[in-house]
Parts: sequence; structure tokens; C-alpha cells
Amino acid sequence: MGKPIMAQAEHHRTEAAGKVAPLKRAERDLVALGILVAAIFLFVGTGSTVLTGIARSWIYGVGSPDVLLTNALILNIALLIFGWRRYAELQTEIAERRKAEENATRLARTDALTGCLNRRSLDDAVARLVDEAAESGEAVAVMMIDLDKFKRSNDLLGHKAGDSVLIETARRIEALMPSRSVVARLGGDEFICAVIFAPDSETAIERLAVRINDGLAEPIICGGLRAEVTASIGIAVGARSAERAASEVAQDLLHRADLAMYQAKRRGRNRFAWFEPTMEKELRFRSELEQGIRDGLKRGEFVPYYEKQIDLETGEITGFEMLARWISPRHGMVNPDVFIPVAEEIGLIAELSEALITIALEDAKAWDASLTLSVNISPLQLRDPWFAQRLLKMLVAANFPPTRLEIEITETCLHENIAVVRSLITSLKNQGIRISLDDFGTGYSSLAQLRTLPFDRIKIDRSFVSSLARSAESASIVEAISSLGRGMALPITAEGVESAEVLSALRRFGHFKGQGYLYGQPASADEVKRELAELGLLGPQPQDDSASEPPSARIA
Ligand code: C2E
Ligand code: CA
Ligand code: CA
Repeated sequence: MGKPIMAQAEHHRTEAAGKVAPLKRAERDLVALGILVAAIFLFVGTGSTVLTGIARSWIYGVGSPDVLLTNALILNIALLIFGWRRYAELQTEIAERRKAEENATRLARTDALTGCLNRRSLDDAVARLVDEAAESGEAVAVMMIDLDKFKRSNDLLGHKAGDSVLIETARRIEALMPSRSVVARLGGDEFICAVIFAPDSETAIERLAVRINDGLAEPIICGGLRAEVTASIGIAVGARSAERAASEVAQDLLHRADLAMYQAKRRGRNRFAWFEPTMEKELRFRSELEQGIRDGLKRGEFVPYYEKQIDLETGEITGFEMLARWISPRHGMVNPDVFIPVAEEIGLIAELSEALITIALEDAKAWDASLTLSVNISPLQLRDPWFAQRLLKMLVAANFPPTRLEIEITETCLHENIAVVRSLITSLKNQGIRISLDDFGTGYSSLAQLRTLPFDRIKIDRSFVSSLARSAESASIVEAISSLGRGMALPITAEGVESAEVLSALRRFGHFKGQGYLYGQPASADEVKRELAELGLLGPQPQDDSASEPPSARIA
């Protein structure tokens, strides 16, 4: 925090000094010039009389020059020389100052590492280019260039090598640029270049983008280390019009090139993508979604739904998996595939998940004590060292036995900091909570990784199960997973049981639990309660009437 303040003070100081200096300099300039001019006048005034006197006395030997006047002339000449010298000195001083000021402005406009323009000067530079292009009826193409996985190579090779990579990247980009262009570094590993080009010559721009992609993909050797980076490029083109000022066009182009760059990343990096208007729509939808989630969370629009889990052997209900639903006033019922990734990205997943678990624990308390509750936990939540503590606190607050709770985590958690995940899982297991590995078969976890964490159950991903009856490949995967489960003494749940054929095929592989549309769609708490009541599977009901409150009051 100290640094920016110091920098600010520095800034004020130079600014203040800058304001005083020109005034003094102008005064001194004026004095020197005044002395010089006065000396010239004096010289012209006295010089002719004195010089004629001297000449007359030398040539004709008549009279002697006026001593006072001669002295005045000598003084006058001295003054002339002094004035002139002072004036010349001041001129040099001014020139030096100007040079220093120009240098300072240049430094403020450029990136210290690469010598490209920096973020601060980029907008103006692109706007000037847009103006210049408009004069000749041309357009401007802006490219946002972002290095792929630069952070990894920076971590791997060290920051010094990272700097060399950035310097070399700038040099390669600059070498490819035509004459009327600008190159800037936005900080980090993002570069921008803008070029003037004749309208309708998109292929020329594409060729340039390909050359940049190829040029940057060449390995960079620095200090004996070999760095391999590629770049994702987003391109947007535009021109000034009667309605839109150059600065507006420039802003737009930079924003659009940025959106297109993300598309290039999503399409697999080391490539370029053009801006398309749908990207803006997607962005708008996305920011609406984010706001909707924030608001929805406050208003209690997220509710748990429940999917039955069945013992396939006996056909009995063993418990329910809680699945999040968003009852959005704007979009209707939204499935978690849409909002969970967004909630994860905007840092709300823990809050959302804990709000849902709190409700689910209350719901599940009404069920028969033999029924379990499974909840899905995002890998991000497992990064939180306090997660186990908070979950236990929720269980205590709800007075819900930990042995009835099962948490489901996906294989992605195996790519996280495994030591943290292991200690978290261990403390949950010590409390009696069970842990399932969800969506098994879709990730890349190996048998060795599977053994690193003490799971209680694996859940075969529904993509294999639902196609079991019609795909020999799926059948052999399910068979392999079931023998793996037997070998490791891990019970198995098959997800996505949609038909009686799948059910009978599964039964041949062993004793599984299962869940899927064959047993019904995920249902609300009230529907579940009604069904359980019919089956005589409700627990002892509390005496107070809070359980019969309407769902909306309960959720909020
Ligand atoms: P999942 O854990 O694999 O959940 C099962 C998904 O499969 C559910 O989708 C369910 O509706 C669907 N499904 C159930 N039976 C069948 C079937 O027979 N056929 C087919 N094709 N699908 C079936 P849903 O509810 O859309 O959930 C999607 C995913 O969202 C879940 O996958 C889970 O990973 C995640 N999720 C749901 N709730 C939460 C939550 O509270 N927190 C976190 N972190 N993730 C959640
Ligand atoms: Ca699950
Ligand atoms: Ca699953």
C-alpha cells in the first residue's frame, strides 16, 4: 500500500516543480535578453562617438578620446559578451529541459519492459490510427494477443526467463507489423496491435494473424532455457463514421477484440478468432446471469430437488441426492449445469451450496432415519480448509446425524492440492460422513489416484449407464468399473438408469445402487414428502407447525 502513495507524492512534487520552473526560467530569459538588448543600444549610442574619437586621435593625432566614454565602451563590450553568453547558456538549458521532458513523456507512454506502448497511451494511439485511416477511406483492425499458458512457463522457467519471453514476443510482433500500426503491451502477457488496412481485405488481416501465431509459436531460447508459448488472437475491425468519433470506435474495437480473444482461447488456443456480434449477446446474457444469481441467492430462489437412490437388488429407496434448482422469475426453472459453473466463477458457490444444504438437512430430517442424503460439493469448496468445520456446524445446528450424510465429489478434485483434499476428507470421514466419487469414468483419474483418497463409493457416470443396453463399449466400461469396485471393495452406484433393459443389464454385473429417470424425475421437497408418506417412510414428525409452512417461506 505504501508504494502507490509514495509514487503519488513524487508525482505531486514534480508537478509543483514543473509549475514554478518555467516562470523562473522566463524571468531569467527576459533579464538576459534585456541586458543584451540594453548593451546593444548602449554600444550603438556610445560606440560611434568613442570610436570616431579614437580613430581621429590615431590617424590625425588630433585630441585624445574621452576616457570616461572609452571606459563605458569597454564595459559595454564586456556586457555584450556576458549577455550573449548568458543568453546562449539559457538556450542550451531550455533545450536540455525539453529533451528531459520529452523523455519523461515517452517513458510514461511506454512499457518499461518491452518498449511497446503501454495501456495508458493505447486508447489515444488507436484513436489516432482510426482518424488517420478515415482520412484515406481505410479501416483499422485491432488484434488482442494473449499468450497461452504463459503463467505456467513463467513458474517453470523463472521470472527472468518470463521477462525475456515477453521482450522477445514484443520484438516478434513488432517485426511483423506494417508501417502504419501500433503495438502495445497491456501488462501481463497481453499485447494489442492495431493496423490500418484497406476495407474488405480481411484475408490480409488473417494472413497477418497467422504469421503472428506462427511467429510466436517458434520456441524462444533464453539463458539456455527453451520456452514454448503460443498465442490466442482476437480480431475486430472498424472505421470512423459520421456518427461515431474515433475514440468511441477505438474503445469498441479494443473491447470486441478482447471478446474474440476469449473465443479463440475457448476454441483451443494457438489460433485467432474474429469478433462476432453473438459474442456481445453472450456477454450480456452472462452478466445478466451473474446478476440474477446474486439477486436470486438473496431472495432465496435456489431450492433443492431430490432424486431417488435405489437398491437395485431390492428396489427399495435408500436415500436421495440433492440437486440444485434455480426458480428464476425471469428464466423459469434453471438446471445446475447452467448456474453452478457461473456461481463457481463469481465466487458464490460456497454460499449457494451451504444455503441449499441447510434447507436439505431440514427436509431430510422429516424422512425415515434409514434414508440418506447425498449432496454435491464443488472442487472449489474443497480448497477451503474450513469447509469441514462449517459442514459439521451445519449438521449440529440442524441436529442431523452425520452418518446419514454423503458428499459427492468429482474426479476434478484429484487434480487439486491432494494433501488439502485428503485432510479434509479424512476429517469428514472421522465424523461419520461418507464420500462418493461422482461421474466416475469421465475424468482421467487412474487407479493409483483413485487409491490416494479413501472413498466410500464410486458412481458410474450416467453417459455409460444410459447407453449400456445399446453400446458394447459402454457395457465393457461398466463391467470394468464393477470389477474394479469389487477388487477395491468399493460399493457402486449407477447413475442414469432410464429403462428396464439397463436395469436388468446392471443386475447381471453385480449388486449396485442406482438412480435415474426409470424411478422418476428429481422432485421438490413437498413431492418427496408426499411420496414417502405413502410408502410409510416418514420419520417421527415434529410437534411444532414449522414443517407445514409453505415452501416459499421455508426457502427464504
Ligand atoms: P450429477 O451429480 O451427475 O447429477 C445427476 C444429474 O443427472 C442430474 O442433473 C439429474 O437430473 C440427471 N439425471 C438423473 N437421472 C437421469 C437419467 O436417467 N438420465 C439422464 N440423462 N439424466 C439423469 P442435474 O440436476 O441437471 O445436475 C447436473 C449436475 O449439476 C449434477 O450432476 C451435479 O454435478 C451438479 N450439481 C447439482 N446440484 C449441485 C449442487 O448443489 N452443488 C454442486 N456443486 N453441483 C451440483
Ligand atoms: Ca452427483
Ligand atoms: Ca454424477
